[in-house]
Amino acid sequence: MTIADIRATTVAVPLEAPLRHAAGAHWGRFIRTLVEVVGDDGLSGWGELGGGGESAEAAVVGLLPYLKGHDPLKLEQLRWKIMNPTASLYNNRLQLHAAIEMACLDLAGKRLGLRACDLLGGPIRERIPFASYLFYRYETADRGGETMPDEIAAHARALKAEHGFTTHKLKGGHFAPDHDVAVMEALADALPGDRLRLDPNAAWSVEESIRVGRAIAHLNNDYFEDPTWGLEGMARVRDRQPIPTATNMVVVNFEQLALSIRHRMVDVILLDTTFWGGLRQALKAGHVLETFQHSAAVHSSGELGIQLASMLHLGACLPNLNFAADAHYHHLTDDILKGGKLRYEGGAIALPTGPGLGVEVDREKVAEYAEFYARVGGYMYDRDPGRPDWYAIWPEQRWADPAVKRV
Ligand code: MG
Repeated sequence: MTIADIRATTVAVPLEAPLRHAAGAHWGRFIRTLVEVVGDDGLSGWGELGGGGESAEAAVVGLLPYLKGHDPLKLEQLRWKIMNPTASLYNNRLQLHAAIEMACLDLAGKRLGLRACDLLGGPIRERIPFASYLFYRYETADRGGETMPDEIAAHARALKAEHGFTTHKLKGGHFAPDHDVAVMEALADALPGDRLRLDPNAAWSVEESIRVGRAIAHLNNDYFEDPTWGLEGMARVRDRQPIPTATNMVVVNFEQLALSIRHRMVDVILLDTTFWGGLRQALKAGHVLETFQHSAAVHSSGELGIQLASMLHLGACLPNLNFAADAHYHHLTDDILKGGKLRYEGGAIALPTGPGLGVEVDREKVAEYAEFYARVGGYMYDRDPGRPDWYAIWPEQRWADPAVKRV
């Protein structure tokens, strides 16, 4: 079994409504690059990474000389080939490797009749619980427009009724901090007994973070995610307010992981199958965390169904997954999978039962959304279409106005 070819296709898939966050917005669509690794028998494995366009596709396809003739099961050799320390210094290939590794696990699993999780030690669980992942949203023709506490609470209740979520995560940091506090209070009132999380993506100073943490400390919090920037800042917040802290922003490699554990800087680490360089690297980080009695969670960087499947396989294998996973997935209007989007039941998504990643890519859907990308193009994630002159200059933050609901 060897690799014969690699292909890359950029797609854009619409969201129900634009999602507002501390550094800008997702402008109403996700742009993703789908990576297809083709075996010498014509079988394909699929991976996925964020962003796209000609240069992203060229970066993926440009790695063919490294891959041609490589056994997709020799995953550790693949990691060194693509992500060796010198290459990592000069060419940032971490996310490219993550997508290729995803595709190799899919390809090898399909060839052997094994699930990706079976190649990683086997699953501990068959259902992965998810959080509702609530955003302030710009209004479209028939969706979105939630900015006020009662509107976010109503949206959370509707998502709970539809998907069964019992954990709710607010993407904060877009409006003034006290607005997020009021929303968290409204969520607690509207969803008694459910678990809550607040993630302002490092938009606040240490002192502001401590003040907010103390203000919401009486709620049913899972954790307080990335209130401020930097490991040192996060450590100061952890010391001076009572909620356990979490990060997906400042612990994203093994050096930072060691530092964080050794100096007790962050409690919970959110693992991402792209940002850590692949499913295997994310799982390895999970095992390090488990050794030191830290909990892991599964991070979402804005996925379609291929990446979601990788998150399900990670979640299935993590012994210390003590929290519901994150996914933007329910914000999408469609997917590139045969049969459409994977479904939530009781707030969880079932681990696919088929070989490899267990999802089947629909080539007609890929063509449809590649054409949509060609028509609408990309956007800058750190620009806010509602505030064209605004930049996320955080020491001089200017908060958005919750009365503005439409771009
Ligand atoms: Mg986060």
